[in-house]
Amino acid sequence: MARRAARAVPWMAMPDITEEQFTKEALVFLEANATRKAEKKAQKWGEGSDSASIFEQKDRAVELAEVEEAKAWRQKKFDAGFGWANGPVARGGRGLTSSYDRIYNALEGEFETPNASCFTIGLGMVAPTFLAHGTEEAIAKYVKPLWRGEIVACQLFSEPGAGSDLASLQTKADRDGDEWVITGQKVWTSGAHYADVGEIICRNDPSLPKHKGLTGFIVDMKDPNIEIRPLRQMTGGANFNEVFFNEVRVPDWYRLGDVNQGWTVALTTLMNERAAIGAGGGGGRGDFMSLDRLSALLHAMGKGHDKVLRDELMQIWIAQQVNKYTGQRALAKVKAGALPGPEMSISKLAGAKNMTALSSFVSKALGAKLTADSGEWGTFAWAQFVLGTPGGRIAGGSDEVMRNIVGERVLGLPKEPGIDSVTPFNELKVGTQQV
Ligand SMILES: Cc1cc2nc3c(=O)[nH]c(=O)nc-3n(C[C@H](O)[C@H](O)[C@H](O)COP(=O)(O)OP(=O)(O)OC[C@H]3O[C@@H](n4cnc5c(N)ncnc54)[C@H](O)[C@@H]3O)c2cc1C
Repeated sequence: MARRAARAVPWMAMPDITEEQFTKEALVFLEANATRKAEKKAQKWGEGSDSASIFEQKDRAVELAEVEEAKAWRQKKFDAGFGWANGPVARGGRGLTSSYDRIYNALEGEFETPNASCFTIGLGMVAPTFLAHGTEEAIAKYVKPLWRGEIVACQLFSEPGAGSDLASLQTKADRDGDEWVITGQKVWTSGAHYADVGEIICRNDPSLPKHKGLTGFIVDMKDPNIEIRPLRQMTGGANFNEVFFNEVRVPDWYRLGDVNQGWTVALTTLMNERAAIGAGGGGGRGDFMSLDRLSALLHAMGKGHDKVLRDELMQIWIAQQVNKYTGQRALAKVKAGALPGPEMSISKLAGAKNMTALSSFVSKALGAKLTADSGEWGTFAWAQFVLGTPGGRIAGGSDEVMRNIVGERVLGLPKEPGIDSVTPFNELKVGTQQV
C-alpha cells in the first residue's frame, strides 16, 4: 500500500543564509557559468530581430535540442543551490522563502541562459500538484527530478468533448489489482512531444455524478502504449498534440489523491495554472510589445500623428500597467500563504483582453502590410502575433469561463446554469406561471 505524503510538513525553517549572502553567491555562480547580457540599448527601427510571435514556430528536432540545453542549465543551477530555493528541504529544496527565488530569477535575467519555457507547465502546475497529492514514493521519484530539470512534465486534462466543462472527460481508468489501465484520448496537450511525465485526470467510475467519479494519476510519457500526434496551429507551428492512451498501465502508487478525488487534484493544478498565466500580466513582456517599439511602428507607418491610434496605444499601455499591478497583488497574496484565488481569473481575463487590443492596434497600424510579406522589417512579422493572440483567450480557461468565475466568485452573482443543471422545458417558470 503506497504511503500518502504527510501534508503539514513544517519545512519553512529560519533561513540559514541572508538575502544579501544569497545574492552574492548567486552572482558568483552566474558570473562563472553564464555570460552577462550586453547593455540593453533602445532598439532602433529596422535593427535586430523583428520576431513578434507568441507561439514560436520551430522544427521539432530544433525544439528537442533546446529542451536538452534547458535541462542541462537547470541541473547546473539546481546543484549550485539556485534551482528550488523555496522548496521543502525534505524534498530537495533549500527551505527558504520565495523571495530568494525571486532574487535569483531577477539576477539570472541579466545573463544569457537557455530558454526555460519547457518547464512552465511542469514547475508551475504539475510539480505543485504532485507534491500536494502524490504518494511518498511518487514524490521521491518525480518532484526533485522535475525541479532539477532532469525531466519535463505536461498536463493531460482537455479532451475532444471536455475543455471548459472539464468534468465531462471520458478517458477511462480501470482498476486491475495494484494497477490502473488507462484508455482514451486527450487533446491540446502542450509539450507532450518532449515531456517525460504527465498529470492525467481520468474517469474511474461512470456511475457517479461527473465531478465525483474522477481520479488523477501520473503517467510515464515514454510508455509505448501512448501515441502522440502533433496538431498544427494557424500560426504554422505545432506546439500542442493529440495524445492517445491505448491500455496504458500505471501502478496504484502513481495515483494522485484518493480514488474519486480527481476533481480536487485538477483544481490544485488549475489554480496554479491561472496564477502562472495571470502573473504574466498579458502584454508588455517581449521587447516587441514595448511602448517604444509600438510607437516606432506607428511612426514608421506614417501614422505617428493619428490621434485615434495614439490614444489607442496609450489605453493599451495603461491597461497593461494596471494588469501588471493586479497580477502582483494577487501573487503577493499567494506568497503570503493564501491559495491562488479568483483574482487570478481577473488577471488572466484582463491579460487576454490586452493582447486582443494590441492585436487590433497593430492590425490598424499596419493595414495590408500585416497580410502580405513585403520583406519590410517589423511588418509582416506581426502576423504571428495576431494569429497567436486568440490562443491566449482560450488557454487556461476561456474568456467566457473566466467571466463566469469572476461573476460568481468575486461579484457574488447567481450561479451560471450548467448543462447538467438546466431545468427541463416543462418545468420552466415565467414569473409564477409554469410553461
Ligand atoms: C495555447 C493553448 C494551450 C493549451 N494547452 C493545454 C495543455 O497543455 N493541456 C490541456 O489539458 N489543455 C490545454 N489546452 C486546452 C484548453 O484548456 C482548452 O482549449 C480550454 O479549456 C477550452 O476548452 P475547449 O477548447 O474544449 O472549448 P469549449 O469548452 O468547447 O468551449 C467552446 C466555446 O464555448 C464557450 N463556453 C464553454 N462553456 C461556457 C460557459 N459555461 N459559459 C459561456 N461560454 C462557454 C467557450 O468560452 C468557448 O468560446 C490549451 C489550449 C490552448 C489554446
